[in-house]
Amino acid sequence: MPTTVIIGAGISGLQCAAAFLRLGHSVTVLEKSDDVGGAWLRYTAFTIRVPFEFFQLPDFPCPPELQSPDECPTGRSLLRYIIAYAHRHNLYRHVIFRATVTRLHRLGGAWQCYYDLAPGGGLGAGGGFGGGGGRGGGGEEAPVQHRIAADFVVVATGLHNALNVPAIESPYLFRGRVLHVQDVPQDDAELEAMVSGCRVAVVGGTKTAVDVALRAARAGG
Ligand SMILES: Cc1cc2nc3c(=O)[nH]c(=O)nc-3n(C[C@H](O)[C@H](O)[C@H](O)COP(=O)(O)OP(=O)(O)OC[C@H]3O[C@@H](n4cnc5c(N)ncnc54)[C@H](O)[C@@H]3O)c2cc1C
Repeated sequence: MPTTVIIGAGISGLQCAAAFLRLGHSVTVLEKSDDVGGAWLRYTAFTIRVPFEFFQLPDFPCPPELQSPDECPTGRSLLRYIIAYAHRHNLYRHVIFRATVTRLHRLGGAWQCYYDLAPGGGLGAGGGFGGGGGRGGGGEEAPVQHRIAADFVVVATGLHNALNVPAIESPYLFRGRVLHVQDVPQDDAELEAMVSGCRVAVVGGTKTAVDVALRAARAGG
């Protein structure tokens, strides 16, 4: 039986996992966070730029109870859909959570994938939103390096993992706090406590910037 490793349990990695399972491969997904969902774990309060129909996967039309009334739904709705997709295809048992791939190496006709497994990580069920691997705990323990061999590797690590925060030329002139949009609180009450009464500057001008500007204004910024 061919073996396939997929790096990343976002919507792309999960869809690949379901496809390779259908082909009869033995599939392992390595995911550095605690649950499936990828970008949408961190952007729950933001919305997508397209109507939801464009986001549905052909092998799992969105069940009516998960459909959002908004034309362009929030990350939270998408996350629910992605988690449901993973359950529908029984994918959790193929995902090793808290596993960060650090190196890929071709040796003797197979891929060797090296990954760091953080404390509390491992295969399948646990305590994430949808049942992901976060079993909590672990304290200050160091991650443990592992290796897994595979015939095929799919890199599905997404575009939104490397944060781009421009350096502020003169930190003496700007004494405020600089946040990447990924670190803006997803919870409205938390955002209000942070920005209410403050002047907020948003750097950037596309959809995510507009979303965050609107939320900051509504939160009293
Ligand atoms: C606010 C916002 C709005 C968007 N709107 C749209 C839209 O309207 N339409 C659209 O098509 N797209 C939109 N996107 C893009 C969106 O990211 C993609 O649609 C989709 O989520 C990408 O899925 P993915 O699986 O490729 O990547 P991701 O969802 O980023 O998943 C990648 C996964 O790989 C994991 N990973 C990364 N590195 C490693 C490693 N070394 N080891 C192990 N795991 C690793 C990550 O933890 C993550 O879980 C939007 C994105 C944002 C942030």
